[in-house]
Amino acid sequence: MSDALGSDVVARLRQVRAEIDRASRDAGRKKADVTLVAVSKTYFADAIVPVLEDGQRVFGENRVQESLAKWPEFKARFPDVELHLIGPLQSNKAKEAVALFDVIETVDRPSIAEALSKEFLKTDRRPKLYVQVNTGEEVQKAGIPPLEADAFLQRCRDEWHLPIEGLMCIPPVDEPPSAHFGLLRKIAERNGLQTLSMGMSADFEAAIQMGATHVRVGSAIFGHRG
Ligand SMILES: *Cc1c(COP(=O)(O)O)cnc(C)c1O
Repeated sequence: MSDALGSDVVARLRQVRAEIDRASRDAGRKKADVTLVAVSKTYFADAIVPVLEDGQRVFGENRVQESLAKWPEFKARFPDVELHLIGPLQSNKAKEAVALFDVIETVDRPSIAEALSKEFLKTDRRPKLYVQVNTGEEVQKAGIPPLEADAFLQRCRDEWHLPIEGLMCIPPVDEPPSAHFGLLRKIAERNGLQTLSMGMSADFEAAIQMGATHVRVGSAIFGHRG
């Protein structure tokens, strides 16, 4: 356990918070309108606990298995943690995901919507759900194609009775992200959704400018993943 790691991480966390506040102010938005999701994937207690102790409560993880190994213990110590799943969900992990996560940002295909709706019949837990949109229509990336998003959102409501609260996207790495953020916002607006999870370490300021309500920041806080 390294105290130096913890203090570096906390210094970067505070820096990112200050940058989010500044970007929000510059965009004429209130500080409370933008939530930092600290992406702690691949990191363990020596990095995560100092961030919890500094008051951060919203975290993102991309793998169900890894999260099960880490978060039950942290949640027991910090019961007001809000844990977001930001990576792909397999249908056979729906039960575990619903039990552990408070927000599932990656509803990205009919089979997952169906698995979640079945799980909701068996449990009282109701994580918030976002639909992931593949704004760049990249073959290797998960998400609903933009042109199919309206129909998918309607099926979520009518067929699977899933209350979808927002949208999430991961723009292509080699394109300016703002057009993708703008597209996600447009899809949200025409479907009456208020929540937009967009922007990562490299582009969260642009995302806040374009209306992000949640920015998912990993390496700028925890350092580069090995
Ligand atoms: C890893 C990850 C992030 C954080 O990325 P950084 O560039 O490290 O900030 C955000 N969103 C998703 C979906 C991720 O998988």
